[in-house]
Amino acid sequence: MLLEPREVPLGGPRAMTVRRTLPHKQIRTVGAWCFVDHYGPESVHMSVPPHPHIGLQTVSWLLSGEIEHRDSLGSLQRVRAGELNLMTAGVGIAHSEYSMGDDPLHGVQLWVALTDEYRNMIAGFEHHHDLPDLTIGTADCRVIVGDFAGALSPAQVYSPLVGVEVTLAGSVVLPLSPQFEYAVLAVDDAVDVQDHRVPRAAMQYLGWGATSVEVTGSGRILLLGGEPLAEDLLMWWNFVGRSHTEIQQAREQWESGDGRFGDVVGDTLPRLPAPALPTVALKPRPSRR
Ligand code: MN
Repeated sequence: MLLEPREVPLGGPRAMTVRRTLPHKQIRTVGAWCFVDHYGPESVHMSVPPHPHIGLQTVSWLLSGEIEHRDSLGSLQRVRAGELNLMTAGVGIAHSEYSMGDDPLHGVQLWVALTDEYRNMIAGFEHHHDLPDLTIGTADCRVIVGDFAGALSPAQVYSPLVGVEVTLAGSVVLPLSPQFEYAVLAVDDAVDVQDHRVPRAAMQYLGWGATSVEVTGSGRILLLGGEPLAEDLLMWWNFVGRSHTEIQQAREQWESGDGRFGDVVGDTLPRLPAPALPTVALKPRPSRR
């Protein structure tokens, strides 16, 4: 199934349009991957002032440009193409992100839902610049998270999950685990996934049960996969929860400056205010219709 991206303008000082393929109205998660935004390449100053997260991990992955991350744990970390910033929000964290330098900004912002067992864990932050590389046929692969073809990323994730950047030079057959569902995001150019044309910024959902997939093209794709999530998520603003009450509580705690989220160390810009909650109760949604 082809997941066409929706264009989403990001408000506030970040004058950017992102292309969102997850959540999609038919497919809300791929494994525990629950949010996929693709942006650029664009010469733009990205500015995302302090804002909160709960119940998820953020995976910041660049194809070009640089972003500086700060958070309420005191982390200060620049990320560049091919490196990983992995933030575990758990019970609560606040962070900010600003683009740096003059290179066009091109990247993806991905979220991984934490399962019920881990979603209230203490927050954490990791940076990895030494991720494993491998070659399959003519394709160069870098393992962002999880295990791919025997190469294991050192990044800490909390459910069976994989994320790989693959640089194509023609046709390649990538090995898959039949217990995982997968999707292929075309980030540089249109590619062919088996017999399906996938336009740039679109994502082909592959389902589960396959042991390989053939991808043909040039430029980079992201292969995202994982064991299908058995939990219904409630996603609202920057929060991943399970009930209206807990989302409402997190919102109130952010708005009141509660210590649950803390302050982003070294950031003096005003924090992003939470939007108003809808007047009807938020409900968790199943991973697919
Ligand atoms: Mn964020």
